[in-house]
Amino acid sequence: MATMTKKKPSAKPAKSAKPSALAKPGRNGSALKAKSTKRVYFFGNGKAEGNAGMKDLLGGKGANLADMTLVPLPVPSGFTITTETCGEYNDAGQKLPAALMDEVRANIARVEKATGKTFGDATNPLLVAARSGAKMSMPGMMDTVLNIGLNDAVVEGLAKLTGNERFAYDSYRRLINMFGDTVMGVDHEHFEHELSDVKNTKGVKLDTELSTEDLKEVVERYKKVFQNHVGEGFPQDPYTQLERAIEAVFKSWMGDRAIKYRELNEIRGLRGTAVNVQSMVFGNMGDDSATGVAFTRNPATGENKFYGEFLVNAQGEDVVAGIRTPLKCEEEMAKWSRKAWRELLHVKDVLEARYKDVQDFEFTIEKGTLYMLQTRNGKRATAAAVKIAVDMAKEGLIDEKTAVLRIDPGSLDQLLHPTFNPNAAKTVIAKGLNASPGAAVGKIAFTAEEAEQRVADGEKIILVRRETEPADIGGMAVAEGILTSTGGNTSHAAVVARGMGTPCVAGAGDVHIDARTKVMTVNGKTYGIDDWISLDGGTGEVYEGQVQTQVSTQSPAYRKIMEWADKYRTLKVRTNADTPHDAQVARDFGAEGIGLTRTEHMFFDPERIHHMREMILASDTEARKAALVKLLPYQRDDFFGIFKAMKGLPVTIRLLDPPLHEFLPHHEKEQAELATSLGLSLEQVKRRVEQLHESNPMLGHRGDRLAVTYPEILEMQVRAIIEAAVECKKQRIAVLPEIMIPLAGTKAELDYLKKITLQTAEAVFAEKKTRVDYLYGTMIEVPRAAITADELAQTAEFFSFGTNDLTQMTFGYSRDDAGVFLPEYIKKEILERDPFQSLDIGGVGKLVSMAVKLGRQTRPDLKCGICGEHGGDPRSVEFCHSVGLNYVSCSPFRVPIARLAAAHAAIKEGKKGKK
Ligand code: PEP
Ligand code: MG
Repeated sequence: MATMTKKKPSAKPAKSAKPSALAKPGRNGSALKAKSTKRVYFFGNGKAEGNAGMKDLLGGKGANLADMTLVPLPVPSGFTITTETCGEYNDAGQKLPAALMDEVRANIARVEKATGKTFGDATNPLLVAARSGAKMSMPGMMDTVLNIGLNDAVVEGLAKLTGNERFAYDSYRRLINMFGDTVMGVDHEHFEHELSDVKNTKGVKLDTELSTEDLKEVVERYKKVFQNHVGEGFPQDPYTQLERAIEAVFKSWMGDRAIKYRELNEIRGLRGTAVNVQSMVFGNMGDDSATGVAFTRNPATGENKFYGEFLVNAQGEDVVAGIRTPLKCEEEMAKWSRKAWRELLHVKDVLEARYKDVQDFEFTIEKGTLYMLQTRNGKRATAAAVKIAVDMAKEGLIDEKTAVLRIDPGSLDQLLHPTFNPNAAKTVIAKGLNASPGAAVGKIAFTAEEAEQRVADGEKIILVRRETEPADIGGMAVAEGILTSTGGNTSHAAVVARGMGTPCVAGAGDVHIDARTKVMTVNGKTYGIDDWISLDGGTGEVYEGQVQTQVSTQSPAYRKIMEWADKYRTLKVRTNADTPHDAQVARDFGAEGIGLTRTEHMFFDPERIHHMREMILASDTEARKAALVKLLPYQRDDFFGIFKAMKGLPVTIRLLDPPLHEFLPHHEKEQAELATSLGLSLEQVKRRVEQLHESNPMLGHRGDRLAVTYPEILEMQVRAIIEAAVECKKQRIAVLPEIMIPLAGTKAELDYLKKITLQTAEAVFAEKKTRVDYLYGTMIEVPRAAITADELAQTAEFFSFGTNDLTQMTFGYSRDDAGVFLPEYIKKEILERDPFQSLDIGGVGKLVSMAVKLGRQTRPDLKCGICGEHGGDPRSVEFCHSVGLNYVSCSPFRVPIARLAAAHAAIKEGKKGKK
């Protein structure tokens, strides 16, 4: 690896340079005439036109190939055709720009110069690869063609030149296969069939056991397959091969797989993929050649150890495709070549020093010489990401803030979800590689399609495949876990599952899968679609049946990253909790208060629902009050339990919100039972149910409208809150209740209800001869409340944005029915994302921002928070920070996500401020 030792690697990648999109006008030509777009960027022999900052234009792979060339690392020379060209190609109805191939030819000439070889020349041939590479890595989603430039004459020249006829024909048959499959759409199966046939005839198992003569026969057979399916012979002209390969890569950008991947990963706004055309180096030149993929640290655990796999005498795609089982670099490489292993360890250090992050790289060793084919930031499991970020900060590679920013808040989900209970009974039926951590339990599905269907029908599924392929992406996304019987830790299943945070056991060799008959056999025992299995992606074990799971424990690295997050965030994080248990769970996750207790959830207990129904069916106020008296002790106990769990942290209790009909039975049998128990006739119950029926309940008799019409309900709830708070005080438990009115739209409503609230509280204080502090506030859930927030703040002492209802009412989309059409809106990109999951910043967000400003004009210290589902969505949390909310409130399991998202917001704002 001579190039690596000559020059000291520079520590930093070059800063973004402006791409010279327009060439300068010629001296005497008009600007228009001379205006030409630069579409191709060369790299080779230590020089590069691109750099690491040009990922938009050159894609991640292209920008890093240029950058590695500049380091210098040993990168085979080549060039990158821009992502913009892919955009042009699609804009023009899938036609390559007219001038593109001239520029490609000019750059092939430069590669020829750099390598001393000639494209299409039989005596000293240059062969190239065409690989895709978008700005964001989309592993396996787009096309690649290797060995371009081989034809009937060149293959013979290559054989002579290398003295290795077997290698030459092996390369040629791979080209015909790849070109036929990816460029011309001939099903890979047809080629595979011929290969197996030759292997069977010769009585061999592995491709490597085929002789030169066998491979010549394979080439002839492949050519026939090509001719039969394409209707013309395999193209002998190297430039025709190259042009079509480039076009195929561009075309794959709009292929179903790639579109689905972008959809799932929310990759938007990109022009297309770049194409990297690079001179070939060969890992299949004999036993002194190899190819591999590696991570600079373990992407499953985060351990700071080289982590890679390689195959001797093989070409790149063999490793990723999982066709042959690769060897572990850490265990086998030094035995195979000490020099190669030393060089790879050096590469690890160079890459990390330069990119300050874990790198996932591809390499080839051709006759003992190491070449780098790509590097990118490695996808990693969340637990690994956390460990790596903390370790790198401790090693001084990055600072604490960068470490915090490295962790995608949404991905924390993976850490907070269950693992298997170590004490649970388990029957291990197989063991594979621990490819992606986590515990998964589900029934077996044998195809991705089947998995999607059954998950849609409400089943929990483990997708079981020999090996997954990019087309399986939909099924992988919905599966609880993934099990494969072949393939290594860098196989498609492993890489994709880690990225998705889905538990995965890969390469469990004892598992035999027959997708056709839907039977999985393990050591003689069979399992089918009705059988449950459990996977431990952390150990690689596969269990029979449903193994009990438990809440995960928090690693020291996790605690450290959260400690740093808390240090930098300014937004507080509360939780939505209705029981002391949820409150405790949330506190353990770091909640700093309760932002929403939905009191209606407390009435569904069988004992309580009876009194609730009695209250609803009461014929007059007195009867209603009598029923409410029975509910009071339950409510008081609930509130006491929650206050106690929160130990003096603020607790916001929202008064009754849903329409009353939600509490009544709708089936005649239950109605009859209710009637009997209350001494009423069935007719009376039915009449009340009918009376309560509303055409539009979400806009009907709910929220504070209930309290306005039945103040006695509010009185009971306020009494329960205040009595519980007083009891806490007596027991020396600090307490901070916040009484919250739902759905208010006018100041007058709040005034009316505040008067009753204060009177009730004062009555309790007088009875108990003591006082506690409490606040009276409102949710902002209807647009009118946001618009008149300055008036509402005269009465309300705090605001909490109920963005579920606010979204519903701002868009006019029913929360309960929008699921029918919203997916279509997102698919057609009419909406960027579901506004019920991620706050609509441009619309609903404007109302929030306005209400905060108006409210604080009236009451400068007005406490503002959010308690809709958006409070746990990282994007929405960042928005909440930006408009100056005091806190977000979310479900207990999302508390750490919100804490981290709040830190991201504060750190990013700080960075902006510095500019
Ligand atoms: C809201 O509307 O955002 C809210 C928190 O209240 P609920 O979901 O109970 O209507
Ligand atoms: Mg609401």
